Parts: sequence; C-alpha cells; structure tokens
Amino acid sequence: MDKVEQKVKQTIEKYKLFTKKDKILVASSGGKDSTTALYILNKLGYNPEAIAVDPEIGDYTKNNIENLKGFCKAYNIRLKVVLFREEFGYSVCYIKSLLESKGINLNSCTICGVLRRYLLNKYARKLKADVIATGHNLDDEAQAVMMNLFKNNLEILSRQGPMSGTNFDKKLVPRIKPLYFVEEKDIVEYSKSHNFPVKYGTCPCRTGVYRCTIDELLSKYEEKHRGTHKNIIKWFLRILPELKKKYKSSDKQAYCSNCGEPARKEVCMTCQILSKIKG
Ligand code: SF4
Repeated sequence: MDKVEQKVKQTIEKYKLFTKKDKILVASSGGKDSTTALYILNKLGYNPEAIAVDPEIGDYTKNNIENLKGFCKAYNIRLKVVLFREEFGYSVCYIKSLLESKGINLNSCTICGVLRRYLLNKYARKLKADVIATGHNLDDEAQAVMMNLFKNNLEILSRQGPMSGTNFDKKLVPRIKPLYFVEEKDIVEYSKSHNFPVKYGTCPCRTGVYRCTIDELLSKYEEKHRGTHKNIIKWFLRILPELKKKYKSSDKQAYCSNCGEPARKEVCMTCQILSKIKG
C-alpha cells in the first residue's frame, strides 16, 4: 500500500473515525485534498459520498465542480452539489460586497467558511450521513494550531484534532479529517501520480487572511527545519486530552434562536450574516 494510503488507514483506525458501515460525506471542492480523500476512502472499501458546497467564485469553482463531477462519475461516487445562489440568493463575492456597502468588512474566507459549514451540516443531516470528512492535511492543521496559539484561543484549540469538537450533539454531524497526518507535498505528489483532474492553484479570494501569514511563516520554517509541521502536531496531540478536559463543560451545544441550527451564540453566525445583508 502507498505511504499516503497507509497513513490514512492508520489515522482512521487509531482514532476510530468511522467504520465500513458508516456513511461518510466528503466535503469536496474538486481540489487535490478532498479528491485524494474521496479516492482513498473509496479504495479502502469505505462508503464515501461527495458533497460540494459551491460558493460560486466564477470560473475558479465552476471548473473545480466540473472536474469533481467527472471524477465522481468515473469512480461511481454519488455527488450532491449545493449552490450559494440557490441557498442564499447570492455568491460569496456578492455577499462580501453587500456587507462592505453597509460598512462591514469581513474577508471572503470568513464568510465562505461560516456559510459552507452551515450548509454542510444541514445537508449531512438531510442525507443521513454519519460523519463529514474534510480534506484538511497536516500543514493545514499545523497552521490552525499556531493561529489559535498566537491568538490565545485555547478553547477553540480544544475542539481541533483528527475528530473536531468536544461535545457531540444530534444536530451536529461529527467532522473528521482522514488526511490529518499527510503532508501537503505528499498529497500533491499522490494526486499528480494518479492524474486526478484537479487544478493546483489557490482560490482568487484567499487574500488578506491570517492563515496565509501563518502558512508563509511555517512554510519558511519547514524549508529550513524539516519536520516543523509534524512536530507542531505531535506537540498539540500531547496536550489535546488536557485541553479537551478543561473546556468540555464550557462547550455546551446551543441552538440558534432564529434558524434552530447549532450555534455558540444566541443567533448563529449564518443568520447574523444573512440579516446584515438583508437589513
Ligand atoms: S479560499 Fe476562502 S473564499 Fe476561497 S473557497 Fe476557500 S474559504 Fe472560500
């Protein structure tokens, strides 16, 4: 078995992410990470289906979704596509400019992330999925650890790891990360060697986000000191049980008073954004 496939298999088994009976909904963008996750889960005999929540960023997401459709057809994987315009009336770029016109400056990734997570969870329940698998890799996760550390967000940090969250709730479908221990460069190599129909560029809206700064910083360290990403994750996983214990009681799941979906505040972030663009 290929080393990437082996790492994925070990992660699923060690962290008991899911079993062969579970329905796994892979949050797919048509990019290298989620396509690799879909392919490997399928190859290992699990039961993956794909869901693409499309923020509709012009040709960028249009081409990715077309590629994903071709890939799913070739491997006989069921695919559900959910469009921002059908769900919210607007693409993510339009929502950003509407908010800007009202003096609210949020970057595209913040808006996109909040709205996509909301739709993913809602559709995962509708499709009766047992888990949502994302394509986050080792580099992404090391970035997330450092971002939260630099911002002293220990409570948010406690909800990270191969399986997100500390408390689970019937309305919140567990999120798992089968590529958690796979380095980005290995995914690129794997994806290229399998000729996956994916584009390797980055999203044109990924600008001005804190994650980019951390990404640059850690990539420079990784170049000079091989193993930086891996060591951050190793350290994090050593302290994670303590963090989970400390913040478990404060991680009570509540529901949005407006839409009834899981929320940490009285009104969920999605309803807050939508009310601002309508108001
Ligand atoms: S990079 Fe940001 S805006 Fe682009 S798809 Fe990802 S979250 Fe959305």
